[in-house]
Amino acid sequence: MRPINNRINTDTLISEIRILRSKQQARHIMVAGGAGFLGSHLCERLLKLGHTVICVDNFSTGLERNISHLRNFKRFSVIKHDVVDPIDIEVDEIYNLACPASPPHYQADPVHTMKTSVFGALNLLELAARTGARIFQASTSEVYGDPLVHPQVEGYWGNVNPFGPRSCYDEGKRSAETLFYDFHQRYDVEIKIARIFNTYGPHMRPDDGRVVSNFVVQALKGQDITIYGDGSQTRSFCFVDDLIEGFLQLMATDPSFTGPVNLGNPGEFTILELAEQVIKLTGSRSKTIHKPLPKDDPQQRRPDISLAQHKLGWQPLVPLSTGLEKTICYFDRLLTVEAHEWVG
Ligand code: NAD
Ligand code: UDP
Repeated sequence: MRPINNRINTDTLISEIRILRSKQQARHIMVAGGAGFLGSHLCERLLKLGHTVICVDNFSTGLERNISHLRNFKRFSVIKHDVVDPIDIEVDEIYNLACPASPPHYQADPVHTMKTSVFGALNLLELAARTGARIFQASTSEVYGDPLVHPQVEGYWGNVNPFGPRSCYDEGKRSAETLFYDFHQRYDVEIKIARIFNTYGPHMRPDDGRVVSNFVVQALKGQDITIYGDGSQTRSFCFVDDLIEGFLQLMATDPSFTGPVNLGNPGEFTILELAEQVIKLTGSRSKTIHKPLPKDDPQQRRPDISLAQHKLGWQPLVPLSTGLEKTICYFDRLLTVEAHEWVG
């Protein structure tokens, strides 16, 4: 009789076959913004699939600690570079994630944010045109602004203020989409555009300023939880692992599918509900306090993901409570390490 531990584990086998297949087509892939929250997860996933990954980042919001564990891979390299300036290396695929995503960070230097979105897209599209690389753009639900159509479908043109504190980000991302469209039409560049809705998880910075990291860090430190406005505004929160799977599936679609396509979790929560969940899951004694609602803060947001379901066969799998538990675990460890470093 075969010993029990010799039995084939089907899951392992399937995953090994997948890795082998993708190794047969191992590619040189640039991840611009690869040291950031999403970018670092993407670099790791691509490396594990057998690809060679070149992380290009100016480290404005990205962190060395997000990618330090990847430096053991011989197929991983890092170039410190600002995408506002042209770059010329040989690549088969480009993911453009370079841009600060948190409102306090993208509003800190709005002119540079606009330049990053527009010149960054232009420079990377020119590289794609020269090398024949397929190129992915991390666009955003912010292209819908403060939406008057709910949930948001890709055909909705949005309700965006071009003259306000969020405009550098929203209009920069809208212009980038236009450049992608033009390079596809004019130069046949293979493009993929994901409109990403609020995503959270490990590798967010404790001082990122976005709502999930703020609430988790405040709850873990026993500080007041800062609700902007009355907390009735809604967001749909996607766990990072689900999103990265969507990136890979979008990038693997037929060249004729150019998007844009919504990627996000359609579960919709008020900011008050999010605060309650974080307090419950951390067991924190923190109280909620209210602060003024930032100008042009969208009132509601939820993706219609029918297109992603149909074209990519993709949908998020991780419920908010599970994703929050993993995120809380990450920040708990990080804050403990930081506290020890501070004392030491
Ligand atoms: P992040 O701020 O953690 O990561 C952005 C990365 O880009 C950082 O490593 C930063 O140093 C780098 N970067 C910024 N400007 C650059 C420049 N000029 N040149 C080179 N590198 C530069 O943000 P994130 O949440 O990981 O977002 C990644 C991308 O996804 C962004 O383009 C963002 O607009 C988009 N996006 C994210 C979300 C989300 O919920 N996380 C939602 C919508 C869109
Ligand atoms: N928000 C909040 N407290 C915070 C940070 C954010 O109430 O400490 C609110 C913010 O006003 C917005 C929502 O949470 O209504 C999501 O904000 P975030 O900055 O995460 O993303 P975005 O507004 O870009 O969707």
